[in-house]
Amino acid sequence: MNDFFAQFPAGAKCTRCKQPPDIRLRSHHVIYCSSCFLHYFHTAVKRAMRKFGITPEQPVLVAVSGGKDSLALWAALHELGYHTRGLHISLGIDGFSDASIGSIRRFAEPRQLPWANYSLKEVLGCTLPEIRRRTRRKMCSVCGTLKRQLINRLTIQEGFSAIAMGHNLDDEAGRLLGNMVRHRSEYFERQYPYLPSTHPRLPSKFKPLYRLEALEILTYCKLNRIEPVAARCEFARGATSHSFKQALDLLEEAMPGTKRDFLYTYLENRQPPQPESPYGTCRFCGEPCYADVCSVCNLLDRQAGPPNL
Ligand code: AMP
Ligand code: ZN
Repeated sequence: MNDFFAQFPAGAKCTRCKQPPDIRLRSHHVIYCSSCFLHYFHTAVKRAMRKFGITPEQPVLVAVSGGKDSLALWAALHELGYHTRGLHISLGIDGFSDASIGSIRRFAEPRQLPWANYSLKEVLGCTLPEIRRRTRRKMCSVCGTLKRQLINRLTIQEGFSAIAMGHNLDDEAGRLLGNMVRHRSEYFERQYPYLPSTHPRLPSKFKPLYRLEALEILTYCKLNRIEPVAARCEFARGATSHSFKQALDLLEEAMPGTKRDFLYTYLENRQPPQPESPYGTCRFCGEPCYADVCSVCNLLDRQAGPPNL
């Protein structure tokens, strides 16, 4: 199953408007026609944006990978009347990076949406495969570290103080489960769909799709004829988060709505993160960081290498 389109017996009616239905959302115990599904989807994004206090008057920078989540997010914000700009970081991975740019271009051009494309090579001086040769760390976590810092840095450079990320309900619930299973209570503070800025050079981050499941997002992409990048990143294999998501899918299958309940109950019972600053400044690159040297400089071993790497 890779979307929520379903066959219905003659006479079945959309829960909302009583027209013939196309889509079944088991976790909500509803069936919808396509236009009521779009209404549902946009309402979920609108509610999230309202919770974050971001109105359509404020321009929004969207971090776009070319995958289903970030393209659906961009489409929904655009449909809701937000003025948006895309931000893409090209990692220089054979096949995958060009395909990602192609998907973004095919999405943005007909809608006349502006976007900025930065390559890892141009910002850091090296590509991901080049970094791979210099480290033993798992590539997926290396890539995460680099993307996090570059997204922060480029958001500020683009003149924005906040950035919209495409994480969805499955991502957030999977991460929560992973942190709980491993008792990583130090990560709980950042487990929230809105993270305020904690440093003048750190944008705040928000995740307007946190109320929407991965399959709902795929359904939305199909209805809007959005074609996300089909290729998979060759480095994604090592990601452990995938197993936690699969575990939740199993529970969801037996008890529809469990995934959503799990995340929402957690979010309802906690305070939003506070904009306190535990940050210092990296002595090599000047980016915000907890310690003396930031994770990217650590990764690139800047102490040893030339400072412009
Ligand atoms: P991921 O960690 O790959 O699941 O991505 C989570 C979110 O990070 C995506 O939905 C995007 O908003 C953002 N993102 C991931 N990769 C990139 C990229 N190469 N350029 C810009 N944003 C990205
Ligand atoms: Zn309907």
